[in-house]
Amino acid sequence: MQTTLSERCLWLQTSAESPGHYPALANQEEAEVCVVGGGITGLSTALHLAEKGIKAILLEAGDIPTGGSGRNVGLVNAGLWIPPDDIVAALGEEKGERVNAILGGAPAKVFDLIERHDIACDATRTGTLHLGHNTKGCQELARRHAQLQNRGAPVTLLEGEACERITGTARIHTALLDKRAGTINPCAYTRGLARATATLGATLYCQSPVTGIERQKDRWRVLTQNGSVTANKVVMATNAYTEDDWNQVRQHFFTGHYYQLASAPLTGEAADAILPEKQGAWDTRTVLSSIRRDKAGRLLLGSLGKGEGKPLVYLNRWADTIKNYYFPKLGNIQWEYTWTGKIAFTPDHTLRIFEPAPGILSATGYNGRGITTGTVVGQGFAHYIANEDDSLLPLPLSQPTPIKARPLWSCAYESGFSLYHAGQCLRVLI
Ligand SMILES: Cc1cc2nc3c(=O)[nH]c(=O)nc-3n(C[C@H](O)[C@H](O)[C@H](O)COP(=O)(O)OP(=O)(O)OC[C@H]3O[C@@H](n4cnc5c(N)ncnc54)[C@H](O)[C@@H]3O)c2cc1C
Repeated sequence: MQTTLSERCLWLQTSAESPGHYPALANQEEAEVCVVGGGITGLSTALHLAEKGIKAILLEAGDIPTGGSGRNVGLVNAGLWIPPDDIVAALGEEKGERVNAILGGAPAKVFDLIERHDIACDATRTGTLHLGHNTKGCQELARRHAQLQNRGAPVTLLEGEACERITGTARIHTALLDKRAGTINPCAYTRGLARATATLGATLYCQSPVTGIERQKDRWRVLTQNGSVTANKVVMATNAYTEDDWNQVRQHFFTGHYYQLASAPLTGEAADAILPEKQGAWDTRTVLSSIRRDKAGRLLLGSLGKGEGKPLVYLNRWADTIKNYYFPKLGNIQWEYTWTGKIAFTPDHTLRIFEPAPGILSATGYNGRGITTGTVVGQGFAHYIANEDDSLLPLPLSQPTPIKARPLWSCAYESGFSLYHAGQCLRVLI
């Protein structure tokens, strides 16, 4: 009998896009650009380079997908986590409004790619719902709503009967509907990006972990165990799954985790009432819960924190507690899938886009919002490489200082998440 979490990711099992066949690198090759990492950021970079006729080779350590891109909640979010006025206060008018505008328009870019390349990823475009779980949460949503409306975003604050109907729960009194957003099967999206990238002429290698990068005159040589790629430019897209010390990306985020459970497909009146329009949702709790349905009608619940090593009974108990709180009419249900993933956090909740050395580009710290961010960062990198113009990137290229005491940050976050969930299971915090 399974007692602790063993990786069983719903998205891998239900992806209509096939894994594709990408060999391991076994030669000395040359390209204009070498992309390291085959998640959404790396693939979007390679795809947009290929569209411009720039020869790119992508190296992925595992299969596509291996990192966060294939295992996330699948929320195609608009904007950063932080409300737009707060971003402007933190970054200043110019940079703040730039990030607001580019990431606000990012869902449209994701859906455009899906349409153009016919990616079979169960995309829904009915928006996302931010759920006010208490009075303070509802006030926060009203504040966000006003700020987003000031910027012309198609957002609606739903209350009373309309709120209960669209969410399917009487526990939520206010929900912020953002019509720019939607949901996807993220594994299928990532595999679809890989297929489109290869079709456009880029070369993809899997099972090819990069072991180092060395300067060779004015070019870079990217090394794997059995080969190398010499390129003018390198894009390091290893993000939260960066492990090696030689890779400077590691210094610019600290690791957090997120786990999810998916039920068996649900039918019947009580199930049909939950998120009937298929919006992806998350609540305003300090340690949020995400709630969505998939194409087959499963209920997916998730939250911040490490799944690995926790007893399965604990995770099932957490999911049952949330399910019983929000959807008491459902009764007992079976949790069929449980999986987890790593998130790259930054202390200021803002992404970092930087040039660790001349000719090397990198981005990290999406803080759990990478489907849209990775897609537009990849497009922005390709545009920058082609035109020496960084205006399509959500933020200009910078030289950030490394984050100090990263393990301490990780430990503090994880302890906070665990305590919060324990409180929920004991019904102290629900
Ligand atoms: C559980 C979970 C839920 C989330 N929910 C959402 C959500 O609903 N919406 C949203 O927008 N975002 C969400 N996110 C965040 C989002 O998934 C990530 O921000 C995004 O996938 C990052 O994409 P990426 O391409 O930058 O990195 P990744 O997808 O992590 O890809 C990095 C790749 O680099 C490879 N790599 C690492 N080292 C090497 C090396 N030495 N050589 C070669 N390859 C290497 C890895 O194998 C990996 O495939 C979530 C994340 C998690 C984990």
